[in-house]
Amino acid sequence: MSATTSAEELTIGAGYRQAIQWIQSGPKRLLVGGEWVEAQSGKTFETLNPATEETLTRVAEADSADVDAAVIAARRAFEAPSWSALSPHARTRALLKMADMVERHADELAALESLDNGMPLWYSTAMVNAVVDTFRYYAGWPSKIFGTTNPTESSAFMYTLREPLGVCGQIIPWNIPLLMAAIKISNALACGNTVVLKPAEQAPLTSLRLGELIQESGLPPGVVNIIPGFGPTAGAAMALHPGIDKIAFTGSTAVGKQILQYSASNLKKVTLELGGKSPNIIFPDADLDRALQAAVKTFCGNSGQVCSAGTRLFVHESLHDEVADRVSALAGTFKVGSPFSPDTKLGPLISQRQLERVRSCIDAGKSEGASLRQGGSRVGDTGFFVEPTVFSHVANGMKIAREEIFGPVLSIIPFKDEDDAVFQGNDTDYGLAAAVWTRDVSRAHKVARALKAGRVWINTYGEADPVMAFGGYKQSGTGREFGAESIEAYTQTKAVLLRL
Ligand code: NAP
Ligand code: MG
Repeated sequence: MSATTSAEELTIGAGYRQAIQWIQSGPKRLLVGGEWVEAQSGKTFETLNPATEETLTRVAEADSADVDAAVIAARRAFEAPSWSALSPHARTRALLKMADMVERHADELAALESLDNGMPLWYSTAMVNAVVDTFRYYAGWPSKIFGTTNPTESSAFMYTLREPLGVCGQIIPWNIPLLMAAIKISNALACGNTVVLKPAEQAPLTSLRLGELIQESGLPPGVVNIIPGFGPTAGAAMALHPGIDKIAFTGSTAVGKQILQYSASNLKKVTLELGGKSPNIIFPDADLDRALQAAVKTFCGNSGQVCSAGTRLFVHESLHDEVADRVSALAGTFKVGSPFSPDTKLGPLISQRQLERVRSCIDAGKSEGASLRQGGSRVGDTGFFVEPTVFSHVANGMKIAREEIFGPVLSIIPFKDEDDAVFQGNDTDYGLAAAVWTRDVSRAHKVARALKAGRVWINTYGEADPVMAFGGYKQSGTGREFGAESIEAYTQTKAVLLRL
């Protein structure tokens, strides 16, 4: 297997070699009850390197029988004193150990993510750093999950306990796989739950390697189970499973709606982190240099495969043509290429299917009369590479402005005044993120309040921190990850009354 040229390999060092060694070290199995096992059906699937279209390795393919086994293991672990009786401080130590393990293997994990998902190495390195921060952030929580003492009559004593939910099924997408796994696992464990995690079948490898590191860190068997498999089989079996107490899902809005229906079977608690079509609004008084740099960075980052990407760029009509020229010129300098070349800004898309979807959206933009200013084509004929693509003169009702493309495609849309910017920005089914660029403090806060989105940035785009809650308004989801809100999503309240 040669995932990159040997010249590149020389520049990428030990992490890359360790990742290749791990890939070649043996079959990739399911983690169930602390053991690495084949799927009960014996089935496997292949995972590709999207930059070369070569098979990296085959992975055991979970289906409903494996989901059953994983749920039993997670239930046992949830009830076993080795986990349930652990003090909050011990849970903190467990999460800190996981952070240390990831930090120690950061280069290997970053290379593995770039091989399996295609993201540039600098990007995967930043994501692995975010994973370490995430584990450390949640490590701080166990001893700070408080109940209340409630005022009541003098002959009674009333208090609340915040308790874990139990077995949490977690279904994640392929776009930022390791960080998604880390957010979900650390949030659940901080609150005392156990986990059955299903990575997406396009990029399961870093979740599996994380499973090994979690095991090495000494977590009791069955607390974290990892079962790669396909959505309609393994994923649906999880959402339907009577032994799962909560489903945390990150993925498309269409599948999120199905998850909600499946979960009704036993009234699972559900959190959904879904798609977005986020407005990035630039007013004439903004620092235009910074705003335009950020505008290009956000729609090109991870080749546009980011749910919170600012894919609708709203600019005051007086600036439209200048912005279209400058954004197109800047995007044209963003190099598309091997994830392991240091100057690569965009790696490949995840799959042939995603490439076809992105190309069909670009065709729709052209046929609906938007003006293609930059890019629009596939790059090369091996690997799923596409150019950063900029459309100007886009109307907010066009398909390219309404649908999540999940590729590096930007729509520049003019607005007349503040009200029009807010109206058009909110005129979407989604509500995941938004940004406003202005030097006018009052306008900044006014617009931030008026935008219907779970995260709003002012004079920046895409900055993330585990203290900042993340989640959607409208059809971008329900529930929050990160921040104090995420603790509510993994606990339930018990009210206790004692008659004195
Ligand atoms: P997807 O098709 O919805 O898949 C997401 C996960 O759900 C995968 O693990 C998938 O499994 C599984 N799945 C598919 N069908 C299922 C079913 N019927 N029952 C249960 N599980 C099922 O989404 P995607 O195309 O992989 O990912 C891109 C989407 O994720 C975009 O819409 C993006 O906006 C969203 N996203 C949201 C956030 C956020 O935090 N809001 C973050 C990242 C991505 P397989 O693919 O393995 O079959
Ligand atoms: Mg892959």
